[in-house]
Amino acid sequence: MYAGNKAKPPSDQAEQRIEHGSLETPVQFVPGVGPHRARQLERVGVHTLEDLLYYLPRRYLDRSLIVPINGLDLSDREFTVIGKVSSFRVIGGGPASRRLELDLIDETGALRAVWFRGLHYWTKAFERGQVVAFSGKAQVFRDRLQMVHPAVDFLDESERLGLKAKTGTIISLYSSDHALRQVGLDSRGIRRIVAAATEIATGRIPEMLPAELLQAYGLLDREKTLRQVHFPESMESKELALKRLRYEELFSVQLTLALRQHQRKNRQKGIKFPHPGASTRKAVKSLPFDLTKGQLAVLTDIRQDMESDYPMNRLLQGDVGAGKTVVAMIALCMAVEGGYQGVIMAPTEVLAEQHFRTLTSFFEPLGIPTTLLYGSLPAAVKRERLRRVASGEVDIAIGTHALIQEKVEFERLGLAIIDEQHRFGVAQRLKLRQKGVSPDVLVLTATPIPRSLALTLYGDLDVSLLKERPKHRKPIQTRILGGRERQKLFDFLKTELKKKRQGFLVYPLVDTSEKLDLQAAVTSYEKLKIGELKDFSLGLIHGRMTAEEKDNIMTAFSAGEIDLLVATSVIEVGIDIPNATVMAVMSAQRFGLAQLHQLRGRVGRGNVRGVCVLVIDPPVTREAQDRLSVLANSEDGFEIAEADLQIRGGGEFFGTRQHGAPDFRIADPIAHQDLLVAARRDAQEWVAKDPSLKSFKPLRSHFERAYGPRMELMDVG
Ligand code: ADP
Ligand code: MG
Repeated sequence: MYAGNKAKPPSDQAEQRIEHGSLETPVQFVPGVGPHRARQLERVGVHTLEDLLYYLPRRYLDRSLIVPINGLDLSDREFTVIGKVSSFRVIGGGPASRRLELDLIDETGALRAVWFRGLHYWTKAFERGQVVAFSGKAQVFRDRLQMVHPAVDFLDESERLGLKAKTGTIISLYSSDHALRQVGLDSRGIRRIVAAATEIATGRIPEMLPAELLQAYGLLDREKTLRQVHFPESMESKELALKRLRYEELFSVQLTLALRQHQRKNRQKGIKFPHPGASTRKAVKSLPFDLTKGQLAVLTDIRQDMESDYPMNRLLQGDVGAGKTVVAMIALCMAVEGGYQGVIMAPTEVLAEQHFRTLTSFFEPLGIPTTLLYGSLPAAVKRERLRRVASGEVDIAIGTHALIQEKVEFERLGLAIIDEQHRFGVAQRLKLRQKGVSPDVLVLTATPIPRSLALTLYGDLDVSLLKERPKHRKPIQTRILGGRERQKLFDFLKTELKKKRQGFLVYPLVDTSEKLDLQAAVTSYEKLKIGELKDFSLGLIHGRMTAEEKDNIMTAFSAGEIDLLVATSVIEVGIDIPNATVMAVMSAQRFGLAQLHQLRGRVGRGNVRGVCVLVIDPPVTREAQDRLSVLANSEDGFEIAEADLQIRGGGEFFGTRQHGAPDFRIADPIAHQDLLVAARRDAQEWVAKDPSLKSFKPLRSHFERAYGPRMELMDVG
């Protein structure tokens, strides 16, 4: 596996020992590099010859598909044209028609390229006179040849001439930046030094994947791979090389996870809780309902983990309303009965408060003291509560992830429950581990995580599923409205609110335009309050409010003093108001499906059927409608999450910068899901038979290079 730049840059002495051309060769000794270039390469993470060989092309141009503009045909095939930017402009007023038009010319004609999205980015990216390659399907629009959203490659003049003159078929293009270009490392410059690196490394690139795995998938050996990925003989061999590199990466991540899991279960000392007794039984009896079979099964998994002497690291996946919170409460009882403290962490203050209310009404009658902790508490109150946790006076702490991780010391933390995952990654779990002897960790996720992601993000966890819902809940009706049908929504809201039911009106909140979005919610609230919905009591809640303000609003809403709650997506998760029947979401196209599914789960929790209304902003595109109709047609969170992932890609999950999520450079765990599943299985099998990787030295030494000689990373789980 690629060891990455964690391999320390060698000292002068070390250099003496490094064989020239071996993978550890410092990049500055690659012919054509030198100190200036080395400095720039190191800046982008390329320290060694190996790093350079793993600096993969960003794209490939198949020279056989390059045509002059007048040679473009209107078949359904993709072609590439190379030309100069003659002019470009943004036109159209409304968001519907706003677009960037760019005219590209070559010796034979002109082509118009059009962008409807990313205007901001693209207007900055282009300059007049620039040489670019556009790849895509050509079409004729109003008598003009055009490409919509072509793939763009910025070329330099020499590259343009080279592309025309040379005979090879496929040319690799590398990403570069201003500073790299300053030292001659534009795409072409990089290609040259990569060629030199490939030359001197020939015969010195050791294979580290076991031969049986290479055979099983028909993978190229490593040396051939690294040559083909940069200088492919054909698009097929390039694909083969990429496949090998993807597998290599996925296998490496999975092997790490499998090793961690192995070590956690075999080496780490966790807490061995006693078998739950009278006090837990009493707690279960105090519930106003019987636990479902599913809940009991999950609790058995948890109990077995807790009674064993390895630290529990379990993910509990279950759709909204599946009854996870109740499971968490019983698990906390077991911890307390065993003489330890427990903590439950939520991503937002609103959610922490909601948990606090639920948990307190459960634990108080049992005589188990709880406390609530979040960042915006008055300092004195916070100090006192922290003290009570640290002294062990409090058995159960409820709070936000942020606060608990940073500030809280426990007297004897035994069980940590992390609610509403997927914002929370491996790194945070590690941090938590450091808080107690190795408390048992239970992660609750309401967003059903598609298998591929679960395997990569939480591959070192054991997984329990909670499938059935406790009560037979009536299906929630989901309706999609175009922006111009807003009035229908307000009419419907009025009808529902008149029946003394409650509702939510949710506006999106996206980081980049947070202010604007907040404005939308506030304006609408102000308007509705004196206009359309003046006969009802309206409340407003958003992320900029203090915890106390939010708490007051939520309390009033649960008490029925507020009929309609206008909100930004702060209410996304967890809130439980049985009388709420309408969930209206504005600009619904801007939400992820999984997120909408969560929102929808907020209504219809009582006995009355819930209705979810999704309002799409104009222009109502086919794409938005198709996407949202997945939601209208399914209530299965897993199905929805899979569909969302297929449509939107992993960006939604990974783009939010998962802390501690594996950082994939080559593979895409969604696009290459099959390979991922295979790599997972292979890694698990490998660790089961050879957990110290002794039987295959090259693999072990690669891990040592990547993670340090003592495999430190693998010792924490
Ligand atoms: P989740 O945390 O998975 O979204 P909750 O634990 O909040 O789900 O449960 C949803 C609702 O169902 C709550 O009102 C809870 O009291 C109720 N509930 C949970 N388990 C049961 C059960 N076994 N029988 C009846 N109702 C239940
Ligand atoms: Mg919950």
